[in-house]
Amino acid sequence: MTIDLTDLITEITAAMAEAEDRGRVATYIPELAKVDPAQFGIAIATADGRVLTGGDAETGFSIQSISKVFALTLALGKVGDQLWDRVGREPSGNAFNSITQLEHEQGIPRNPFINAGAIVVADVNLGGHQPRVAIGEMLRFVRYLAGDDAIAINEAVATSETATGFRNMALANYMRAFNNVHHPVDLVLGSYFHQCAIEMSCRQLALAGRYLMMDGRHPGGGRVVSPRRARRINALMLTCGHYDASGDFAFRVGIPGKSGVGGGILAIVPGRASIAVWSPGLNASGNSALGTAALEHLARRTGWSVFSPPEDAG
Ligand code: GLN
Repeated sequence: MTIDLTDLITEITAAMAEAEDRGRVATYIPELAKVDPAQFGIAIATADGRVLTGGDAETGFSIQSISKVFALTLALGKVGDQLWDRVGREPSGNAFNSITQLEHEQGIPRNPFINAGAIVVADVNLGGHQPRVAIGEMLRFVRYLAGDDAIAINEAVATSETATGFRNMALANYMRAFNNVHHPVDLVLGSYFHQCAIEMSCRQLALAGRYLMMDGRHPGGGRVVSPRRARRINALMLTCGHYDASGDFAFRVGIPGKSGVGGGILAIVPGRASIAVWSPGLNASGNSALGTAALEHLARRTGWSVFSPPEDAG
């Protein structure tokens, strides 16, 4: 099956414009609550170097938890497999901001993509520095991955996250009690909230994800991570990238994906494509309703899946 991706993007964008259930926009901070739910964007960066876009693909949005993929990549570069002494690699089966599991598991979060795990990763990335150093490093890293220096942090979002982040403070303090957060909690969270507040368009996000479809290589030359590490990050995205809906996402879409509460999803088809979709309305698990539907549509029409032989795909 060979399919024209430009036609497919037009088809998906039209289908999403007609969708009735667009989910509900996150309301925990005003900056996200005021985003127009009618928007939908998609960008596909292909292994042969093309970038195809549709809908609101150039509009910036808050990447939120998608930043956890880039933060994990940086942390593994700093401490390697020692990270796994402090964070697990199992799906949580719980909401992204759940507290209960942490007590049972003695302050070791289930995986790096739930909030508790991402806070430990932010602690690693802080590495004894002030938050602005870690935040600067993260921003430079994402710009390098996307090849786009225009990517920036929305300070109003970061400030609002700080003002309302009581659950994240609870998670961080709880892990500090188990000595699994080493820096002062306000510094770790300052860094974490700023990474969540990075704004990117679908185009920028699809470009930033290319190293994960290219076995760790940077399209401009050189390596971001080893092939093994790229595969492992993809494995974590598949098993943990959608919190307690990760199984459903694997079932419906069948490729690694990481969602954010801003309505974006980064999805990776190894060897083929890095895909970003965005629509601000969320389903009950806090994942983009239309973003998931669009990826399901795309996977069905292309045959792209990590569960089928490559020759089945267009
Ligand atoms: N900033 C959000 C939080 O920490 C990110 C969560 C998400 O995108 N699911 O609650």
